Amino acid sequence: MLTCPLCGGRDVGRIAPEHYYCWNCFVELALEGGEVRAFNVDLEGMLTPVAAPEEPQGEGCS
Ligand SMILES: [Zn+2]
Repeated sequence: MLTCPLCGGRDVGRIAPEHYYCWNCFVELALEGGEVRAFNVDLEGMLTPVAAPEEPQGEGCS
């Protein structure tokens, strides 16, 4: 059973093959290459990636 990478919860429902939805975070989860990626879904149905909290910001890095 898939768990949400954001909240770690199990309120995750499958909406399509390799596509899931977390009812706790209201994000869509997609399996890509064995990794779970989270996407926000806007009112038009567009998916925008949710920034992973552990990813460092590369600002100002030359
Ligand atoms: Zn969640």
